[in-house]
Amino acid sequence: MNWKLKQQLQEMLKQEQGYKIFPGGFRKRFALGYPNSYFVGMSNLGFHIIYDQINNRNDSACERFFLPDKNLIDDYTRTHTPLMSMETQTPLHDFALIGFAISFEMDYFNILQMLSLGKVKLLANERTEKDPIIIAGGPCATFNPEPLSLFIDAFIIGEGEETINNFLDVYNDPSNENLSRKELLFKLAQVPGVYVPCFYDHIYDENNKLSAIKTNDDVPQKVSRQWIRDLDAYDGKTVITTENTEFNLFLIETSRGCGRHCRFCMAGYCFRKPRHRSLDKLLSYLPQAKNLNKKVGLMGPAISDYPQINELCSHIRNQDMPMSVASFRADSVTQELVNALAQSGQRTLTLAPEAGSEKIRHIINKGIEEEHLFKSISMGINAGVKNYRLYIMVGLPNEDENDIKAIVDMTIRLKQYMEKLGSKGTLTLSINPFIAKPCTPFQWSAMADLKQTEKYFKYIKSELKKYKNIEVQFESTKESFIQGILARGDRKISQVIYEAHLNGGSKAFKRALKTFKINADDYLYRNFDKEELLPWDSLDMGFTKDYLWKELQTALQEKHTIQCFDGCKRCGVCK
Ligand code: SF4
Ligand code: SF4
Repeated sequence: MNWKLKQQLQEMLKQEQGYKIFPGGFRKRFALGYPNSYFVGMSNLGFHIIYDQINNRNDSACERFFLPDKNLIDDYTRTHTPLMSMETQTPLHDFALIGFAISFEMDYFNILQMLSLGKVKLLANERTEKDPIIIAGGPCATFNPEPLSLFIDAFIIGEGEETINNFLDVYNDPSNENLSRKELLFKLAQVPGVYVPCFYDHIYDENNKLSAIKTNDDVPQKVSRQWIRDLDAYDGKTVITTENTEFNLFLIETSRGCGRHCRFCMAGYCFRKPRHRSLDKLLSYLPQAKNLNKKVGLMGPAISDYPQINELCSHIRNQDMPMSVASFRADSVTQELVNALAQSGQRTLTLAPEAGSEKIRHIINKGIEEEHLFKSISMGINAGVKNYRLYIMVGLPNEDENDIKAIVDMTIRLKQYMEKLGSKGTLTLSINPFIAKPCTPFQWSAMADLKQTEKYFKYIKSELKKYKNIEVQFESTKESFIQGILARGDRKISQVIYEAHLNGGSKAFKRALKTFKINADDYLYRNFDKEELLPWDSLDMGFTKDYLWKELQTALQEKHTIQCFDGCKRCGVCK
């Protein structure tokens, strides 16, 4: 054990407010990990919410752990110090139950690194009665757990608030104490929303295609995603405050689930239906943020869709508190929201048209037209905001060169409009390759060839470089290559992640694919067949595969799908 590393955690803890440490012996300890740095993990509101839920029980004590910074990882390894929890600096391998909250595919490699640093066996089937049970939840666990199935004993599918409690009711039940590991996992597999992969055999045919998913034991054929009906029943705010987060905000979740039906959007499909916290509930969080002298960060899939957004903004601003939002929908933004952001010092407004051409915006069902962008910019300039950022995706289904040119043309028009209204600020294009996500209508769709995507990136950049104050930023296609495979990955990809981990992590991923003779094109550049069994087919998001397929056909016909509305029973989520 290295005392300097222990002290470093204690120092971080001293800078926090709101964490809990319980006297030993009364509560069962739960190690909750975020598979990235402290800085990133503590900026994630879902992580705070689950921490709070676990500690709100009278039988559990939650302790956090994170991936140490790069220079510290060397110190852990060199001094043989196991990864430790923040609260009591307990080695990870001393916890009987370890959970991860996973939001991004690229963090899969960090999970293995953290388990390895914590001296926990990586492979679920090698863990014995003495080893911890490892669980995982969060968006990535929900839409496709298979690439992690070699390492994780049980996944929480859907929203964690209720399921983690139901899970812990079983796990902590004294009558289950004498069960073997397998018997306990079997019991946990009966909890709604808990998927235990070892009870689901994935069978491949002679062509190495997934041909069947068999359950030998008496576990649900399909695991139903869980979601909470009443957001007000649970808190949705920062629990632990510290200066050491991304934007140093007091986060408040206004809404969950999105009813806009953008066809590429995993969050829109896996977390429906849209629900909002009551204004009273949100206002009850403000005194705490005020006392802590924090800027309020409003969180939600589409902040401007919150029905009382103007009232909320004016309450925050009337108390002289600054606020921010990550982005908003250009078709529902209000002048009041934009004013509140400008008064809070926000210098850039972010809009997400995702595409330049009307055709692609119809295919993805974004519902944002150019007039909405003009209107938002006009509101922003009225309020004194000079700079704008556009989120754009390249490689969407049925895209061609005209659609790429349309991105350039739209950018120029918007920049000219900014100038016409007197703004000399910067227009930044933030461009990402499209990645097909499971449980969306585009789950069957091939990703565009990344070499072609890079050519498009270069084209956009060169066309726009002659314009002053237009910046173009791209996501690395190297990462998109890995992310695309992980997103639609099956159990074979689990082996690849393991092999990559043994050889240095994500940078060894391509080599690991070769080791297992896995053709990346099968995962990235192939339109999956309608009848094909998909690795995530043992999960039930509340709608059928047929519903998604029809939505894909509607997309290809460039037809619009209307938003969720009260009384709607279209997709099957609302009964
Ligand atoms: S507006 Fe579209 S992209 Fe944004 S969260 Fe909703 S469904 Fe997703
Ligand atoms: S049933 Fe209708 S309202 Fe409910 S989530 Fe589905 S589309 Fe939205």
